Amino acid sequence: MSHPFLSDAAVGFLPSPVRDVWELSMQPGMVSLAGGNPDLRLSDTGWMAEAAARAITDQGDEVLQYGSGTGFAALREAVVEVMSAEGVSASTDSIQVTAGSQLALDLITKLLFARGDTILAEGPTYVGALGVFGGAGVRVEHVEMDDDGLQPDALRETIDRLAGQGRRPRALYTIPNFHNPTGVSLAAGRRAEIVDICRAAGIPIIEDNPYGLLSFGEYDVPSLHSLDPELVIYLGSFSKILAPGLRVGWACAPTWLRRPLQLASESAVICASVLSQELARSFVAGGRWRDTVSAAAAEYARRAEALNGTLRPLLPAGAELTTPAGGFFSWLTLPEGWSSAGLLDHAVDEQVVFVPGASFYADDDGERQFRLAYSLENPLRLDEGARRLGRALASYGSA
Ligand code: PMP
Repeated sequence: MSHPFLSDAAVGFLPSPVRDVWELSMQPGMVSLAGGNPDLRLSDTGWMAEAAARAITDQGDEVLQYGSGTGFAALREAVVEVMSAEGVSASTDSIQVTAGSQLALDLITKLLFARGDTILAEGPTYVGALGVFGGAGVRVEHVEMDDDGLQPDALRETIDRLAGQGRRPRALYTIPNFHNPTGVSLAAGRRAEIVDICRAAGIPIIEDNPYGLLSFGEYDVPSLHSLDPELVIYLGSFSKILAPGLRVGWACAPTWLRRPLQLASESAVICASVLSQELARSFVAGGRWRDTVSAAAAEYARRAEALNGTLRPLLPAGAELTTPAGGFFSWLTLPEGWSSAGLLDHAVDEQVVFVPGASFYADDDGERQFRLAYSLENPLRLDEGARRLGRALASYGSA
C-alpha cells in the first residue's frame, strides 16, 4: 500500500495475521486455536471495578493526572516483586513502565537500530515483534531452534556468516520461556552459553518474558538477564497474568539504556495510563496474585493437555507437535510437502481455526507449520477442536 503522501516507512507495517484469522474465529460454532489471548475469567478481576472507583474517588488527582515518565513509583516496586517471582532480582531504578511490553519493544528497537540494521531472532518468532522490526526497517535473521530452544551453535554460525557479509547484528531478540509461537523453552544449560556468545560478539539481548509465570510445573531456570544485567534488556507484562486491556508492561533496563528509554517513552506516550498502573499495583499489593497466577497456570496446563493429548494420536506420520511446559501455545510441523495454509481451508470446513506458520517468519519459512493456541477455549471445546483438526488433517491428507 503506497501513496505519494506516505513515507517509505509506512509500507513496512504489516497486518497482523492473528487479526486476519480473528474474523473466522468469531463465526458461531468455530473452535478458535488462533488468538493468544489470556482467559480473563482466570484472572479473577472481580475486585477491579471497585478498586478503579476507589482510586478515582480517593486519588483522582493522581490517577487521572499525567504521571511519572518512568512509571508510577508504587507500581515499579510491585514490578520488582513480580520479577522476583520470575527469578530476576531488579532494582526499581531499572524499571521503565510502558503501555504494554509491545511499546517497550518498539522504543528499544528505535533506540538500538537504524533502518537496514540486522536483528537476530528465533525462527519462528512473535508476530508482533516482526511487526515492530518491519516498521523500523530492521532486517530479521532467524536462528534455528529445537525442542530445547535457541541453538547456541546455530547462533554462533549465524553471527559468523553475517560477519562474512560485513554485517554485525545490533541485538538478539528471544523469548526463552514458553515461547510464542512454539511453546518451547530454552534449556537451562544453554542459557549461559547464549549470553557468552552474545557478550563476546558485542550483541545485546532483548529477553521477552510475558509467559514466565505461567509454568505448568516446577520451573527454576535462570533468566538471561540475571546472567548479565548490563547486556540483557528484560521485558515483562501484566497482559497474560492480569489483563491485556490495561496495557501495562515494562522493561528492566541496563544502566546505559535507562535515560534514553525514559525519554523515548515520554516522547511517545508521555506516561502509561496511571489508572491502569494503579490497578496493576492493587493486583500485586492484594497479595493473592501468586495464587491467582498459579491457579491460572494449572488451568492452562489442563487446556494444553486437552488439546495436545487428543491431537497427538490423530497426527499423520511425520508430523511433529511440541510439548509446552507453560504458556499458551503448541506448534505443529506437518509432513514434507504439506501446507498449513492449505490445511486451514479444510480446518475451517470442520469449524476450527489456527494461525498458519508463515506469519511467524520474516523469510519464506513456516509453510509446513502452524501455531495452536489453547489459552482461550475450555478443555471440552479444546478436545472437540483437536478432533475437528484430526478430521481436517485426514481430509487434507487424502485430497
Ligand atoms: N511479547 C510476546 C512474546 C507476546 O506474546 C506478547 C503478546 N502477545 C507481547 C510481547 C506483547 O504484550 P503486551 O500486551 O504486554 O504488549
